[in-house]
Amino acid sequence: MKYIYRFEEGNKDMRRLLGGKGANLAQMTTMGFPVPSGFTISTEACKAFYDNDNQLNDETLAQIDEALDQLSTKVGKQFNSLTNPLLVSVRSGAAISMPGMMDTILNIGLNDQTVQVLAQITDNERFAYDSYRRLLAMFGNVVYEIPEDTFDQILEDTKMTNHYESDLDLTVEDLHTIVGKFKALYIAEAGKEFPQDPKVQLLAAVNAVFESWNNHRAQVYRRENHIAGDLGTAVNVQMMVFGNAGEDSGTGVAFTRNPATGENQLFGEYLLNAQGEDVVAGIRTPQPISTLADTMPDLYNEFVATAKKLEIHYRDMQDLEFTIEHGTLYMLQARNGKRTPTAAVKIAVDLVEEGLISRTEALLRINPDSVGAILYPEFDEKELKQNQPAASGLPASPGAASGQIYFTAESAKAAHDEQHQQVILVRQDTSPEDIEGMVISEAIVTSRGGMTSHAAVVARGMGTPATVGVNGLQVDYKNGIATIAGTELQEGDWLSVDGTNGNLYLGKIQTNDSKVNDDLSTILDWSKQEGDLGVYANADTPADFAQALKFGADGIGLTRTEHMFFKPERLLEMRRLIIAEDAEEREAPLEELLQMQQGDFYELFRLSEGRSVTIRLLDPPLHEFLPHDAREIAKVSGQLGIDPDYLARRVDALKEINPMLGHRGDRLAVTFPDIYEMQVRAIIGAALELHDQGLENQPHIMIPLTGSKVEMSWVRGIVVNQVESLFNQQGIRLKYTVGTMMEIPRACLTADKVAEVSDFFSFGTNDLTQLTYGFSRDDVGSFMPKYIEKGILKADPFQTVDVDGVGELMKMAVENGRFTKGDLPIGVCGEIGGDPKSIEFFESINVSYVSCSPYRVPVARLAAAQAKIKMSKKKDVLANYVKS
Ligand code: PEP
Ligand code: MG
Repeated sequence: MKYIYRFEEGNKDMRRLLGGKGANLAQMTTMGFPVPSGFTISTEACKAFYDNDNQLNDETLAQIDEALDQLSTKVGKQFNSLTNPLLVSVRSGAAISMPGMMDTILNIGLNDQTVQVLAQITDNERFAYDSYRRLLAMFGNVVYEIPEDTFDQILEDTKMTNHYESDLDLTVEDLHTIVGKFKALYIAEAGKEFPQDPKVQLLAAVNAVFESWNNHRAQVYRRENHIAGDLGTAVNVQMMVFGNAGEDSGTGVAFTRNPATGENQLFGEYLLNAQGEDVVAGIRTPQPISTLADTMPDLYNEFVATAKKLEIHYRDMQDLEFTIEHGTLYMLQARNGKRTPTAAVKIAVDLVEEGLISRTEALLRINPDSVGAILYPEFDEKELKQNQPAASGLPASPGAASGQIYFTAESAKAAHDEQHQQVILVRQDTSPEDIEGMVISEAIVTSRGGMTSHAAVVARGMGTPATVGVNGLQVDYKNGIATIAGTELQEGDWLSVDGTNGNLYLGKIQTNDSKVNDDLSTILDWSKQEGDLGVYANADTPADFAQALKFGADGIGLTRTEHMFFKPERLLEMRRLIIAEDAEEREAPLEELLQMQQGDFYELFRLSEGRSVTIRLLDPPLHEFLPHDAREIAKVSGQLGIDPDYLARRVDALKEINPMLGHRGDRLAVTFPDIYEMQVRAIIGAALELHDQGLENQPHIMIPLTGSKVEMSWVRGIVVNQVESLFNQQGIRLKYTVGTMMEIPRACLTADKVAEVSDFFSFGTNDLTQLTYGFSRDDVGSFMPKYIEKGILKADPFQTVDVDGVGELMKMAVENGRFTKGDLPIGVCGEIGGDPKSIEFFESINVSYVSCSPYRVPVARLAAAQAKIKMSKKKDVLANYVKS
């Protein structure tokens, strides 16, 4: 089995085998870019390692020897050479990028002897010992698990004693002492010496990287990002080039476009006389890449040209790592860069306009769920005016949030989980150990680090607002105090963070959602052209509907009319109606409610400007509207002017053991037809009113909870009679439809018959899932997490369609419904109507539209386009296959 590939042997399509980093290093090598030589130990070797009791097997060991020989010959350097010692870096690289999760060791090959050789041949003793102390710290931490802090502490102490400001002030003598202390730490902490043999160092490092695939933080990251655990990681062994070889050397990271905004401008930072870890760890604050144009103009131009070529080659924004050694540029990494959702949208649109990718490719590149995040919250303008920023840092990840501050991942997580607080993690810097605290934070703030620091990268990936490198912020972990521009804050205090501009405000500021920008509009327009599912909104109020229209909704797919009855003055009339004992007593409250409802519908129709508006007649059990305890009964009986005992008796009479399966939905129309009649009069009344004013509208009347054709037919009769009598009264006829929700399995099973009396179907997947699985939709919270944790369910079926069960019923209902009526419109209006994965399934069974909450409309629109594009791709594959 071939376990090892020289960079010359691979290419970018070998990610699974070589990991992302290895595949891209190979690609850059074959394209002729200046990549330091090296080889990749494949993910197959990692699997073999796990199969061999966490040991490298003999074949891998032999192949490592061979690859080392070839590398030595190629670069003219050898391990332990007294004239030209070979030093290598060892870096992990999985098939799917896992930033900060795995480990890196630089300068392998240094020992007490080669460090002196390096000092001689570079004529730079300081550089040699600086490299050695880095190796000792990284190796000690990664391989022997000696805490990083203990090494840092020695460094800090030396700097403090000598009143140094930065690592660069450390003298050769200091470094000698530090190296000595570091070695002593090995004995004290790990009970072992630092291995002097470079080969032993290398093998231990490779082992440690393979082990780290399964460490806790890697597992947490994979769990959060749904990455399979059996992929394994590759290890890249590469000749070292030195960014810390002097002032004509340096190291940096860059994105070919701004990863926060997507702006088409090289974006990055570098440090002179430093190694890569210094930039990423955020220990020293790096310089913006543009300043390299002044200090090293030729090299800057070479880098810019390289960056552009790589971007064109990969047809996407690149995340690059580079090192400069004595004025020569080396590329250490190129990969598709992580970006904020805003940047993802802008970059996709720009790449289409630049002719690099097609529209459909652009649409497929954006994660629909992340589109929701573009509608980032912003601070309320009025409140903002009354607040001065207390401090400011780098705008690392956009969006605004307020929360209670915590200084450790553990305390943040505890406050979030146990006290349900909105928390903000405030730290000097973050590391992969903080991941669990970062995931639950509303925002992340650090006092150190740049735009590519761990905190910045992770926050952007999660779409969490973040401000990093805040000047004037000190975090004193020992005393549990943070100081922002002179003000002392403690854990639990409120802070407001604007990650879009980097500002911090003391206290809490109200946030508002922002608007659809031009790039997102473009994506939504393209999505509309490419997709064929209608995307409607679930909207109960004119405000909801107006919001949904801004997000491009095609109309309303579900108005839950019961939500209109919860305003106080309406509730009173509703209660009067419900406790009435006969039709006569119901007349007065019905008349009141009719006026109110007609006004509501009028507004929705007016806003619709002729788009479809689907109004569902009353659905919930009536007792939901009644008072439940003695105190409330006393109050309400007073308001209604009736005897409390009588009210209590009526409440009791309406009580149900199992209300979700009880007297609700269209069952109400069978017992109290006058309620549905009133609603129909209000709908058609509003439609006629608008028609009189010359305004178009399209009312669709929807019956909830239908179980059979006979039942639907009965209720339809009530509806149609009312409509016809109104039309006859006014001498006008308008177009309207009467359809049913499909939310009872029996209705799905008999869809061919139900379709005979329905003008459309709309799946109420909330109830359909509840009734198919027998899971109470209001009680699943208590057991669903365990089902998912134990793998009994892959996902909550109320959030993502259960394809095998509920999905099968839906498929059957679509096919049978259309068997009766070929052009029957069929929608989905349960929660999962806005879920991208579910939408892909709906597209595959030929649903005609989805309806979801206003904020999900853009998400659903993009998901619908993606579903269509993927479907037609699948069809194409088949077509090609048949042709050939
Ligand atoms: C449903 O059941 O999916 C639905 C849309 O109706 P509701 O949630 O109001 O029961
Ligand atoms: Mg329902």
